[in-house]
Amino acid sequence: MGAGRTVTSATGTADHPGFDGGDRPDHREILDCVHCGLCLPTCPTYLMTGLETASPRGRVYLIRTVEEGQGGISPVFVKHLDQCLGCLACQTACPSGVPYANLIETARDQVERQYERPVADRAWRGLLLQLFPYPRRMRPLIGALYWYQRAGLSRLLRTTGLLGRLSRRAARMEALLPSVPTARERRPLPERTPAVGVGRGRVGLVAGCIQPLLLPEVNRATARVLASAGYEVITPRGQGCCGAMHLHTGHLDAGRDMARHLIAAFDEADVDVVVANAAGCGAAMKGYGHLLRDDPAWHGRAAAFSERVRDVSELLGAAIWNGALRALPLTVTYHEACHLAHGQRIRQEPRSLLRQIPGLRLVELPESDLCCGSAGVYNLLEPEMSQELLQRKVERIQGTGASVVAMGNIGCLLQIRLGLEQAGLRTRAVHVVELLDWALHGGAVSDGPPAVAGRADERGTTATHSNNQSMEE
Ligand code: SF4
Ligand code: SF4
Repeated sequence: MGAGRTVTSATGTADHPGFDGGDRPDHREILDCVHCGLCLPTCPTYLMTGLETASPRGRVYLIRTVEEGQGGISPVFVKHLDQCLGCLACQTACPSGVPYANLIETARDQVERQYERPVADRAWRGLLLQLFPYPRRMRPLIGALYWYQRAGLSRLLRTTGLLGRLSRRAARMEALLPSVPTARERRPLPERTPAVGVGRGRVGLVAGCIQPLLLPEVNRATARVLASAGYEVITPRGQGCCGAMHLHTGHLDAGRDMARHLIAAFDEADVDVVVANAAGCGAAMKGYGHLLRDDPAWHGRAAAFSERVRDVSELLGAAIWNGALRALPLTVTYHEACHLAHGQRIRQEPRSLLRQIPGLRLVELPESDLCCGSAGVYNLLEPEMSQELLQRKVERIQGTGASVVAMGNIGCLLQIRLGLEQAGLRTRAVHVVELLDWALHGGAVSDGPPAVAGRADERGTTATHSNNQSMEE
């Protein structure tokens, strides 16, 4: 194993640099790995390839070779790191407590600072990072994509396969794009949603960067359900992105800047709790204390902020509905988003919430915590591995016989909806909080063909909505 280069210095090889100062994998954390291999059966990339280099143990070993100056940041090293989903299943499985998230994020930061990627790869990564986390840049683009779909260009590109011949990654992005909501649907949430009944506190809602533009119904459902549970919901304008995308792709300093901005926005809003309904955002924000540990001006504030972060299922677990939940006669299965199950160790809360809904039958999903292949922007960077994992996930969902698959993360929602569409299944993929919203506020749903008002897009797919009102642009 290793990069296979002649060592010429303590920090790299003749051809490839080693790790430099700043953010770098912690040698003591690397040595926590005792090579037991217990993480291997839980690792999606190892399961799919059977290769040691595609396993957590293999990746920790590769990081160690560079950290100890026995190898450099070579193309082989970068390839094996790129193939990691960052799903953190290995971190859950590891009996030695290897903090794999720290190791992969710092190693990737080294890669991005020191390694010259091929031009096309660099350009694609740069495009994603310069667009997705910035709602102000995305808003006009999403507006254009709305008309692109309505004009039939999406169907044209798909049927001709033209985009796929030009770029597999771009074709993947096009396929993942849901039916773009209308301008009215994309309007921002009100800055304040008052509590219904007796107030239980004031919470801040993290809207996310992409979610308000592509799946705005999830945030609206979240605000309605929180308000019904007695919370005043504050959604600060200009809160920006949590930085997860930058943190997971090796841009730690940019991620820190986004973290500071978001902390300031929510501190100003003076909320008791900060609520996330996207697993990746919640996990990133719970890590702000660690992320900003070396910044004396922000560390205390970041640690206090992280303490206040809750996934929406954690917060609603304590809600008392007093018979307000109406029956939903549905067979539902639950997919565990990696950054909920492994990143935040939240596993029972969403299931408990679903079980509270009268009439809803929850069936367990085999391999429920195996990554669906979304993993932030992994599906746009490694489309082949992502697709293999998606097919496996969809087969497991189909095997349950459920008419609905629930989850707690926008990336999984977009990915699994694509997989269900590819497989020609009518199973609906929804956020857990949408089911609660239907139970609280209506939405005549039952097993069988979708009965909730949907929006047929020009591709002929149907997107489910809570209280959708057939709104036109
Ligand atoms: S983060 Fe996921 S894909 Fe990466 S090594 Fe760990 S288990 Fe494997
Ligand atoms: S389970 Fe932990 S200690 Fe064992 S090989 Fe995997 S990372 Fe290393």
